[in-house]
This record gives sequence, C-alpha cells and structure tokens, in this order.
Amino acid sequence: MIEVRNIRKSFGSLEVLKGIDLDIRKGEVVSIVGPSGAGKTTLLQIMGTLEKPDSGSVRVDGVAMESLSRKEMADFRNRRIGFVFQFHQLLPEFTALENVMIPAYIGHASTSEAKARAQELLDFMGLSDRASHKPNELSGGEKQRVAVARALVNHPSVVFADEPSGSLDTKNKGELHQLFFDLRDRFGQTFVIVTHDDELARLTDRTIHMKDGLITDDKNITL
Ligand code: ADP
Repeated sequence: MIEVRNIRKSFGSLEVLKGIDLDIRKGEVVSIVGPSGAGKTTLLQIMGTLEKPDSGSVRVDGVAMESLSRKEMADFRNRRIGFVFQFHQLLPEFTALENVMIPAYIGHASTSEAKARAQELLDFMGLSDRASHKPNELSGGEKQRVAVARALVNHPSVVFADEPSGSLDTKNKGELHQLFFDLRDRFGQTFVIVTHDDELARLTDRTIHMKDGLITDDKNITL
C-alpha cells in the first residue's frame, strides 16, 4: 500500500529525516511513536503528499508520488488519502453530515451519493442522531469521530492520523481507538497513526519507533 525509499528531508540546516525506508501493507493499523522532534509528523506529511521530500521516493497504492503534477497530486490526495488531525478541523457553519459530505463533493460525487456515503459512516460510528448537529453542539469525542468519517468518505486507500486522540479524555480515547480497528475490519482500511499514547501503540498491528530522523525499531518488519 505504501512504499517509502530513502526519504530525506531538511528544514534549513536541520536534517529532520535522514534516510527512511518503510513498507506498509493494505489493512495494517500502524503506529509511529518516538520523542518530540523525531520527525514523525514530517514523515506522515510526506507519505500523505502534504510535504515533499528533498530526495527519495514514495509510492501510495502503486502510484509514484514524484511522477504526479501538483494538480494530479491534489486530486490523488482528495480521492485516495484521508487525514485526521489532533484537532478536528470541522467547518463550524456546516452540520456533521455536511462536513462528512464535503470531500465527496470535491471528488465530484453527486449529492445523493455523497449523502448516502456520509450517512453510512455516521451510522457505523453511532452518530446517526447527531448528523444534523453543528460541531459546537457535539462533544469532543463526537467531533473527532465525525472527523474520522470525513477522512473515510471517499473510501481512501489509507488514512493518516496525527495524534488523533491527543485532545480527548480516557473514555473518548478508548472509543476512538476501537473505531480504527472496527473500520479496518469493516472496510479493510489501512491506518498510519502518529501517537504518544502507549495504549494505542500496544493495540496496533505494528509499532514503528523513530528517533533523530531515523526508524530505530519496527515490531513487524516487512522489508
Ligand atoms: P515529531 O512529529 O516527531 O515531533 P516533526 O516531524 O514535527 O517531529 O518535527 C521534526 C523537526 O522538524 C522539529 O525540530 C521541528 O521543529 C522541525 N520542523 C517541522 N516542520 C517544520 C517546518 N515546516 N519548518 C521548519 N522546521 C520544521
């Protein structure tokens, strides 16, 4: 699903990624852990095409990212990649259902198709009775689950999540983590999750440890 080869990235004189090789299989739920500044978010953003590496290659679902134009990459990102961030980033003026539908619209789905997909996901997440609520009428855990539904609405090849439960209390954390596994079991979804949460890291199929711009340990190496 994802093939990363010898990725290097610097910001000014700071070398943040020093040669990363990584393969992630379809349906794997992978966590990336390590101290602050290790380069976890930068790696996630490069795999998610939000950031370009200085050298090296990334293939997502068989497509070489460096072969795409900016426009093709934006289109690929919208159709094939989902993102979940620490803070939900829902649009406050739209309902939960509309927030989930928006990426489907951008991907040229019809209104009825976008609505059907959004409703299916909200139902699956136990949020059908919250569909017409605006984000400020939802709890923190509900908002984060809506953000996960939004990430999934175009049936992406992979979902990248950066500290997705970082702003949640223990109960909501547990529910969100369970959701990743339920979604993988239901839709075969691949998840790559940067986290400081040891409990989540223990649950995932595979934990990649990073330090100083390198992978220092990989519980289930597939290279
Ligand atoms: P982690 O997610 O492991 O905490 P990051 O990938 O966020 O690490 O950051 C690694 C290093 O790169 C940090 O020192 C950070 O300050 C720096 N960094 C990240 N993004 C940028 C940027 N856009 N410009 C300059 N420095 C950055």
